[in-house]
Amino acid sequence: GQKVVLITGCSSGIGLRIAVTLAKDEKKRYHVIATMRDLKKKDKLLEAAGDAYGKTLMLLQLDVCSDDSVKECINNVKDRHIDILINNAGVGLLGPVESISIDEMKRVFDTNFFGVVRMIKEVMPDMKKRRSGHIVVMSSVMGLQGVVFNDVYTASKFAMEGFCESMAVQLMKFNIRLSMIEPGPVHTEFETKMMEDVAKMDFPGVDADTVRYFKDVYLPSSIDIFEAMGQTPEDIAKCTKKIIESERPRFRNLTNSLYTPIVALKYADETGGLSVNTFYNLLFNFGPLMHITMSILKCLTCSCLRRRTISP
Ligand code: NAD
Repeated sequence: GQKVVLITGCSSGIGLRIAVTLAKDEKKRYHVIATMRDLKKKDKLLEAAGDAYGKTLMLLQLDVCSDDSVKECINNVKDRHIDILINNAGVGLLGPVESISIDEMKRVFDTNFFGVVRMIKEVMPDMKKRRSGHIVVMSSVMGLQGVVFNDVYTASKFAMEGFCESMAVQLMKFNIRLSMIEPGPVHTEFETKMMEDVAKMDFPGVDADTVRYFKDVYLPSSIDIFEAMGQTPEDIAKCTKKIIESERPRFRNLTNSLYTPIVALKYADETGGLSVNTFYNLLFNFGPLMHITMSILKCLTCSCLRRRTISP
């Protein structure tokens, strides 16, 4: 029969595209429950879903930051039966830590980390009883490796990676699969929202050098990286479909073969020196030559690393 897939954060970006891709599966193998915090934002999803809406796709309200909302949503699912849970909802946070309040940082953790924990706590007991299920988590390459000026976002994704790496072991005993997806840059509203946030920032309490490194060195090179290697939400949706359809889904799934060499640096040198120094050089020494650096990186991506990446 059809598999019930519940996805968080479907009003835009990657979540929207995963919902539509699964709902339009040619063999109609999925009953998609697309959830979003604010149902007023449903139009873009419904337009993309077309006549799948009401057939293989339905909508439910869900705010991953609210215990009550999570419980109510899962109680509204028939028999609380979810075969595949896709934790996609997430928020970014960019900028020098001196200018970010602890409350803003907590909001990021409440969404990216506790949001996933809330969902898993609510859905896992039923999966355990049935001895089946698949939990998918949208992590990021920043769940594996720190990136300058993304300190708190990175920390929230690391927290989730650690949580899931620990959970995966007991879940295996219950025949429940757990997969992380680690995209590099993806062109979505995520990028736009962050740039808008940055434009509004006035950097209280931050020294002039740090502001300059952030605005004049980091931001332009970050935009270059998005341009040079950004994937589309469609790419990530295709990877996600491959992962849930795989006989033996991998635990970690990098989606971007151009970014894989950067992540590989961390695993090539366990002291951390290689990755920290390379990031330093990329930012402060090659900054203006980022395009050239990116071309070199592309050449360095040997076929063996490509094979480690799940292609769209
Ligand atoms: P997006 O901003 O388009 O989508 C994020 C979605 O999460 C939005 O629909 C938003 O409304 C929703 N959301 C936020 N807080 C929520 C809450 N409390 N409850 C329910 N929904 C909530 O951005 P995206 O790029 O599609 O991001 C999706 C996921 O992919 C995120 O977890 C993000 O960290 C991850 N990711 C994005 C990129 C990228 O470059 N865009 C790269 C790697 C990983």
